[in-house]
Amino acid sequence: MKCRQCSQKAVINMRQHKLALCSNHFIDWFTIQTQRTIHRYRMFNTDSRILVAVSGGKDSLAVWDVLHQLGYQADGLYIHLGIEKDFHYSQISQQKSEDFANKHGLYLHIENVKKNEGASITEATNLTLRGRNKPCSVCGLTKRHYMNRVGLQGGYDVLVTGHNLDDEAAVLFGNSLNWQVGYLARQHPVLEASSKGFIQRTKPFFRFYERETAAYAFLRGIDYVQEECPYAIGAKSIYYKEVLNHMELKRPGLKQSFFLAFLKAKQEERLLFRDDVPKEELKACKKCGQPTSAPDLCAFCRTWEKTRDLRAKNLRDA
Ligand code: SF4
Ligand code: ZN
Repeated sequence: MKCRQCSQKAVINMRQHKLALCSNHFIDWFTIQTQRTIHRYRMFNTDSRILVAVSGGKDSLAVWDVLHQLGYQADGLYIHLGIEKDFHYSQISQQKSEDFANKHGLYLHIENVKKNEGASITEATNLTLRGRNKPCSVCGLTKRHYMNRVGLQGGYDVLVTGHNLDDEAAVLFGNSLNWQVGYLARQHPVLEASSKGFIQRTKPFFRFYERETAAYAFLRGIDYVQEECPYAIGAKSIYYKEVLNHMELKRPGLKQSFFLAFLKAKQEERLLFRDDVPKEELKACKKCGQPTSAPDLCAFCRTWEKTRDLRAKNLRDA
């Protein structure tokens, strides 16, 4: 197969775009497409101060790389979660993120959950959710809290994540299977800073297939952590991705049209995905000040207070 632009050997064939490209032309195409998405969805501009949430994986480092290549002012945020099951996932991914920042002369904030909160994600899960062993819920709320806090305290205009089309389509698939109308109403690649206390969040890679972001990271020589988080094994989102990939084989472009048609339907048919459903009243958490629907403390503060109390009690009893 030959590159559409120069007739050299193609390194990737994107069936949904009917487009095969060589290494150089693919990197150009990928960069231009990212810029187009940023413009088209009015994500940010060259004056914006951007905070990129990096996990050390291919998507987040690739999005940081493209933004840097395009001349945006983008700092990184790495959250050390203390995930050490089977191998040193957190330690390795922090190292990859630091190496990337150093190589390109970029600034990386590092937050260490164990240092800040007194326990790792895994310990907090064991203490607070006895019987349920996956730390994903504690992990998710902790990451959201840190991204919002560092973003706002650092005076950033927007938080960027590396989610790709496979991620977005899998979330949409899961939410549709269960008709989670509230989640469907909120799912969008650009989440405005809707209420005070939330930073705007955007996903400039939401139109790329995962194999395209992987190809970009590989061809640009980005050194990323290859392994997934050990707790991702068996996650529903991975199963949904497999189902969608299976359908994609028979119908190239299916994932893309599934997600883009959803966005279009949202825009045009407000009755189906009503924006005007009464939003929950949010108050400031009494401890950390971030928005919450809870009357007193937010889920982050409750989880970590409980963790510290139980930890102190265990130490006293020991
Ligand atoms: Fe956190 Fe790992 Fe679960 Fe992802 S899979 S939410 S990184 S614990
Ligand atoms: Zn709080």
